[in-house]
Amino acid sequence: MWKPTLFIALFVAILSLSVVALDRNIPPQHLPWKQLNPEAPLGLSTKSQFLRMSLSSSDVCMDMARDTKEFNSIPADPQKTNSGCGWDIARVVYGSGNGTLKPGEANMQCPLAVGAYMWLREVDTLAQKHFGSALETIHHVGTYSCRRQNGNNSGQWSEHAFANAWDVTGFELKDGRLISVKRDWTGEDKTRRKFLRETRHKACKIFRVTLSPDYNSAHHDHFHVDMGPSSACR
Ligand SMILES: [Zn+2]
Repeated sequence: MWKPTLFIALFVAILSLSVVALDRNIPPQHLPWKQLNPEAPLGLSTKSQFLRMSLSSSDVCMDMARDTKEFNSIPADPQKTNSGCGWDIARVVYGSGNGTLKPGEANMQCPLAVGAYMWLREVDTLAQKHFGSALETIHHVGTYSCRRQNGNNSGQWSEHAFANAWDVTGFELKDGRLISVKRDWTGEDKTRRKFLRETRHKACKIFRVTLSPDYNSAHHDHFHVDMGPSSACR
């Protein structure tokens, strides 16, 4: 006769064997319990792996960023204002083998920086697929700005206040073409429109929040990505 304890033991054994089988046969980017690997392709669990990394010691991310191939970034000096803006631990990001930032570097909290590295690689792949030219430069209007959400005088701080958000305005290719969010999101060139939407789609697989011109008119000319506590892909 079946006893509850026997049934539970059998269930646990089957579950354990299934987890071991998954662990051995499924690529790690699809398994939420595996550590994020910035060199791996994007997977079903990339976002949850980022979340886990964000909740662990900042050394984990800083070591990862330091050891990541072709990622051009260094530790940033701490910066704090009286109102609470700024950061304790962040990185100065210059770009990577898949594109440099214009105009110049940006301070980013570490998970945002690693996310930027992975996104640049995806954007580069999309640029080659759609235009036959690699990504050269990513145009942006910065990360850090001590301000509240939606430009209000009170209320919640923007993730920009902690260098945890990044506003990107366009992508310049090696052949000189510039794909601009403002001009090309609703422009006549179908390939450019498709490229920008696929670029947003990849961002949504990495960052906690991705906002495009589809979100509201305040974003008509840029993508906003951040690693804050919210979750959005618009
Ligand atoms: Zn923004």
